Amino acid sequence: SKKNGKNQYNFYQNGMEGVSENHLRMEQDLHHAIVNNEFKLYYQPQVDTLKGHMYGVEALIRWQHPKLGMLTPFHFIDIAEETNLIIPIGEWIVREACRQGKEWHDSGLMLQVSINISPKQFQSNQLVDLIADALEESGFDPSCLIIEITEAIAMSQIEKTVDTMYRLKKLGVRISIDDFGTGHSSLSYLTELPIDALKIPREFVQNLGTETNNAIVHTIITLANNLNLKLVAEGVEHLEQLQLLQEMGCSYIQGYLFSRPILKEDVQLFTLDKQPL
Ligand code: C2E
Ligand code: CA
Ligand code: CA
Repeated sequence: SKKNGKNQYNFYQNGMEGVSENHLRMEQDLHHAIVNNEFKLYYQPQVDTLKGHMYGVEALIRWQHPKLGMLTPFHFIDIAEETNLIIPIGEWIVREACRQGKEWHDSGLMLQVSINISPKQFQSNQLVDLIADALEESGFDPSCLIIEITEAIAMSQIEKTVDTMYRLKKLGVRISIDDFGTGHSSLSYLTELPIDALKIPREFVQNLGTETNNAIVHTIITLANNLNLKLVAEGVEHLEQLQLLQEMGCSYIQGYLFSRPILKEDVQLFTLDKQPL
């Protein structure tokens, strides 16, 4: 799991190097990556299965590392977070996602764009100004920008979080809770925070079929409906999962069943024609 991420860097082929040296090298490489523009945003389609169309995408970062090839966040996001490099990287993500969203809108593709905001980035004092600036600079419709944060972020430094969230809402952007229900937190924050959407985590989707898990997913769906929150299920890989989710009342779907994260050019080509709906 992601918690072991820090021990995964010995894929540098030198067997004599310790984890900390790899860590250091990774950190240096991350500095270069920012300067050399080695990051890329991939986008995973989100499908409205009732209307039968793609309504949004989630931006997911990749690193085209000069020696190691294409790396997923698993290999570098923890180090970026620990070293604060997530701040400049995150700034690039926000600006790039808004720029891309505006480009799609201009071409007639009216997508929502979701971005992941890390804990450090959320707690940094510049976040709201950054997003305001990126929206203004790009001209992207704020209501189409979705900020994904985890429950852990929502729960920590609650007063500051409430303040940041209301300032974000003032900009017109929307806020979604990622991996809802995995954070071991109480539900009371849902009444205090201006949240627009919940994401059903992949873990729950993968275990659909067992009685307990179905009950959990069903509860999340009921909760979202009652609180008037939008709901997206992520990690949907199989038709049976899609059908179960639809039966339970969740029709916004993200997962390999429809598409892996893809390049921006391929988002424009994405079509549901041959998809199992
Ligand atoms: P997440 O936000 O929960 O993103 C969903 C992850 O599940 C993505 O992995 C996505 O590629 C993967 N996924 C989507 N559908 C399926 C499926 O049907 N089956 C399976 N097995 N996996 C699926 P990815 O891109 O490797 O990202 C992993 C995590 O890294 C993300 O989890 C998010 O927490 C973080 N991350 C990704 N991009 C960013 C970013 O731009 N900024 C920040 N701060 N974190 C990011
Ligand atoms: Ca996410
Ligand atoms: Ca997840």
